[in-house]
Amino acid sequence: MKILDEEISAPGQHVEVSEQAERILIKVMQYRRMMESEDRCDTANCTNCHAPHLDKVRTAIAQQEKIKFVLPAFPGKSPNPAKVLGFLPDMAEKKALSFLNNLCMQIQEIYEPGAEVIICSDGRVFSDVVGIPENYITAYQLEIDHIIRTMNLTALSTFNLDNIFIDANFDEARIELLENYGQDLEHLKSKVKKGGNDSSNPEDREAHRMYCGLTKFLVEDLLFPGQTRSKSSIQKECKTKAYQAIIRSNAWTDLIAEKFPEAIRLSIHPQICGSKKIGIQLLGTETWMTPWHGVAVYTGNEFVLMKHKEVQKLPAKLVQDENGRPSHYELIQQN
Ligand SMILES: [Zn+2]
Repeated sequence: MKILDEEISAPGQHVEVSEQAERILIKVMQYRRMMESEDRCDTANCTNCHAPHLDKVRTAIAQQEKIKFVLPAFPGKSPNPAKVLGFLPDMAEKKALSFLNNLCMQIQEIYEPGAEVIICSDGRVFSDVVGIPENYITAYQLEIDHIIRTMNLTALSTFNLDNIFIDANFDEARIELLENYGQDLEHLKSKVKKGGNDSSNPEDREAHRMYCGLTKFLVEDLLFPGQTRSKSSIQKECKTKAYQAIIRSNAWTDLIAEKFPEAIRLSIHPQICGSKKIGIQLLGTETWMTPWHGVAVYTGNEFVLMKHKEVQKLPAKLVQDENGRPSHYELIQQN
């Protein structure tokens, strides 16, 4: 979306809009996640990183509208009890949602109309691939909405597959998504292969990174306590599933882009300099873990995320929420 000159009438206003847009992007980029690579830039005001998003921010400012972000995330808890406390959102999600809301509040301090994040839960998009039951996805989504309401996180809202294909059952909705937005498997496989062989095309490299990352998560999810299958057979299955998950995820990305053309795309994954997506931290700190693959642990001065099995080895007590559900752990201070 290009900003038109006639939309900015007063002389000097153009400069002001551009400066304000830069300030907003610097605010967001303080919390970005960057790929470790040679061309990694270390400053939140990198012009190359701002460039893909400037037009959208300027357009919103010229129209005095909220800066809109979309974030495909919060799919549902990992099915592996060695990683998480259960299938419902807990303190880990609460901390991440508060952080995102707070980021919007920080933007509002420098730009009065403020900002909003639309959380586009992708759980229903690949629940059957990652092995999360549909009713767990439903319960997770409802609880996320409940947290947003009760914690008064007014800058956040949710959007998911159930909101789009309302007359279809979940299988039909996914089929319809793929019919409209799905990419060809062989084409994807060739991109992943090229990306792994030092292709100079950033899209190939991104496809390869996504494939490796997803395979790792899928394998981890199946290595639950009591698993009797061999790791190599799990790995083989997960490689096939990873391709399916990427096709679903890309289809979801395209649908979101079509539905919210004015929104800036955030991602939970680290990005390279100048990317079309902004990689965003979920707890305001650099961590590889997501709330749905871990447990929140209070260390005495801050919350960090850990795998459930890791915190179970530490002197820590389990804390319940107001409904008596497991919420997080607190480390026991030893003198
Ligand atoms: Zn950069």
